[in-house]
Amino acid sequence: MAVLKIENLHAKVENQEILKGVSLEIKGGETHAIMGPNGTGKSTLASVIMGHPRYEVTAGTITLDGADVLEMETDERARAGLFLAMQAPQEVPGVTNSDFIKTAMNARLDEGENVSLFKFIKELDTAVAKLKMREDLPHRYLNDGFSGGEKKRNEILQMRMLKPAIAILDEIDSGLDIDALKIVGENVTEMKNPDLGMLLITHYSRILDYIAADHVHVMMKGRIVKSGSTDLMHKIDQDGYDWIKEELGIEDERVVPEENEEGILLGSCATREALEK
Ligand code: ADP
Ligand code: MG
Repeated sequence: MAVLKIENLHAKVENQEILKGVSLEIKGGETHAIMGPNGTGKSTLASVIMGHPRYEVTAGTITLDGADVLEMETDERARAGLFLAMQAPQEVPGVTNSDFIKTAMNARLDEGENVSLFKFIKELDTAVAKLKMREDLPHRYLNDGFSGGEKKRNEILQMRMLKPAIAILDEIDSGLDIDALKIVGENVTEMKNPDLGMLLITHYSRILDYIAADHVHVMMKGRIVKSGSTDLMHKIDQDGYDWIKEELGIEDERVVPEENEEGILLGSCATREALEK
């Protein structure tokens, strides 16, 4: 059974500290939800767990079954069993969806070993049918021209195929209509098993109607400020987040106040441009 352990994690981007001491432990079989308003650091946490190069960890630890995750490259993290369904999946023209998934699956096997093509196709067809996706989607370029909902379903398709030990789903519900939400929720619920630990990141509680969470955490100002059970989720669903802010004496829940945010965003645009050159 996998155990992902995050302790006192601090991380910064563009010289601005975003994560300010996150501690969280996810075990196989458990489903944790992190809820929170926009700009509180949820996606940053997901990126840092996967090793996005733009984020610098300044303190704290992340371990998976005792192994130091922060020492691993992103592909090693994936091989170790970590998976992230991204809030905004990247389009990769030139690489077909099915080749991408096959390569990712092969990367998790020992050198020289490959997944059987027959088994792969069978599994992929089953997953596409279960997710009620268009049959041509595996053969098109990854996310290229996919609708918002198709991109989200495709992240779950990858999860089905890759069978991670720890899966982080970042706002998998955003941009999904109610039918798609139901399909995604049912697929994720069907995947639940004692070997899979899940972290659902969500702004709204509606996805939690379809995927039950055992532990609910609230993120504000770059740290987890409150943890509880589904009762906490129901209360947020009814009353929003203001009561938590009041209780904790938090005025602005965001990590970066709006004025600075523009500065960072400009900074990150500049970085992106530099990278693209
Ligand atoms: P959430 O997912 O909770 O909405 P994020 O983690 O996306 O929050 O963002 C938290 C803060 O960190 C925001 O102010 C955001 O602008 C900033 N931030 C996150 N990633 C980057 C980045 N790559 N470049 C610049 N700022 C970033
Ligand atoms: Mg986010």
